[in-house]
Amino acid sequence: MFQRPPLRRPLLCSVLLLMSVSTFALTEQEDDPEGRVPQAENIELDRPIDEEVVIPAPQPETKQPESKQPEPELPESEQPETQAPETAAGSDEAQSPAREKSGEDKAAAGDTAVPEEQPVAEEVAKPLRLLGSEVPPATSTRLAWSPSQHFEGVYSATPVLVVNGAKPGPSLCLTAAIHGDELNGIETVRRVMYNLDPANLSGAVIGVPIVNLQGFHRGSRYLTDRRDLNRHFPGDPNGSSASRIAHSFFHEVIVHCNAVVDLHTGSFYRTNLPQLRGDLTNPKVVKMTKGFGSTVVLHSDGAKGTLRRAAVNAGIPTVTLEAGAPMVLDEVSVSHSVKGIRTLLNQLAMVSKFRLWGDPEPVYYNSTWQRATTGGIIFSEVKLGESVRKGDLLGTVTNPITNVRKEIRSEYNGRVLGMAMNQVVQPGFAAYHIGIQAPQEQISPPEEVTAESPPAKEEKTEGATEDTAEGAATTDEPASEKPAGEPVERSQEPETVESDED
Ligand SMILES: [Zn+2]
Repeated sequence: MFQRPPLRRPLLCSVLLLMSVSTFALTEQEDDPEGRVPQAENIELDRPIDEEVVIPAPQPETKQPESKQPEPELPESEQPETQAPETAAGSDEAQSPAREKSGEDKAAAGDTAVPEEQPVAEEVAKPLRLLGSEVPPATSTRLAWSPSQHFEGVYSATPVLVVNGAKPGPSLCLTAAIHGDELNGIETVRRVMYNLDPANLSGAVIGVPIVNLQGFHRGSRYLTDRRDLNRHFPGDPNGSSASRIAHSFFHEVIVHCNAVVDLHTGSFYRTNLPQLRGDLTNPKVVKMTKGFGSTVVLHSDGAKGTLRRAAVNAGIPTVTLEAGAPMVLDEVSVSHSVKGIRTLLNQLAMVSKFRLWGDPEPVYYNSTWQRATTGGIIFSEVKLGESVRKGDLLGTVTNPITNVRKEIRSEYNGRVLGMAMNQVVQPGFAAYHIGIQAPQEQISPPEEVTAESPPAKEEKTEGATEDTAEGAATTDEPASEKPAGEPVERSQEPETVESDED
């Protein structure tokens, strides 16, 4: 139904390029002699790059030889160079379709950073150790993660972009495409990562544009064994393939994060209004939602086995950022997401000044699904984001054979946060995701996200989700949703939301 987006090809190219560049980082010797690890090469992710030129080859050619030497390189001397690129980085963005004024943001960041140049000397960030490499402060690099359970040469390594700031602060991780067909997050991570200036960053940002490379290559949501990776966190080193992959990713990457934003889109021909999902009983999660301006925030603690839930259980505040539909890249969703994450960086005091996204508080919602009661072709009468009153017509489902037509009317006063695209549906298909504003007392008071390592109280959600038959493939469908008609005004509104999500 959907054309593969044109962006896909360059994207693939750049992914391949990323991988070829990053293979060096796959340092075999994780068990280092004296606890030392090779220093990662500073490749200055914020350096302006004319994408057309760079994607082909010149970049890797020059990079690869350098990277063979794991000796420390250029952090200090390269510093001045990072200044020049900075302004131009804006122009890189400017030629991208993004409508946001990142050039200005950038300039603003630069401006405010000037006075801060002084204190920098006092508080110096530590090198970041990740994936067998050490990333010095004020540098950026590409590393690679590959699940330990692959067999030699078969599994491709997943690029991990790292920007380690000059100043100390929390590590924010951005993960995308845990579902291989969810493209908006991939582009969002790229835009954020390639416009960060390590010299003006407090803490580190770790971006994994495509977690599920297996699925991505096949344009599929799932892993090759048709399991949903996002139902297997935090994983099990002795479990199913999906579970081992999840375990590897969780323990090699996620545990190094002080906060995580996991990017998703709607599933199965559904599209989502850009929205955050998080457990609003968790004060640090609430803190994360505060930076997103008037963005919709949906309360849910996450389905079992999702990265979000597993990370929160391990003491790492995590939100899901949902925007758009699978298999499609849409500018509105991407730029909203980018803007949101940049504002979050500000909220976490990691950047001195990205332009704040206005002051409005986020709007918190609970939600419920309205389903097709009959099978047929669904056509919607409402638009994403629209406010609806009880009784409003949301859409119709028409049986193409019998010509019987049924209406779906809203059972609530609320807002359309997600919806099915026009398609053929079965009876029971979750068609409209209606947000119902949450009472303020439901939301915990926010609490700072800090660089402290999370309390290690990792829970084994594993076994339960694990090898069950339904672990395969179908999980996201409405199965876990709440019976239609049951209002969701309660504060502990559990899995409803996840059905179309992660
Ligand atoms: Zn997803």
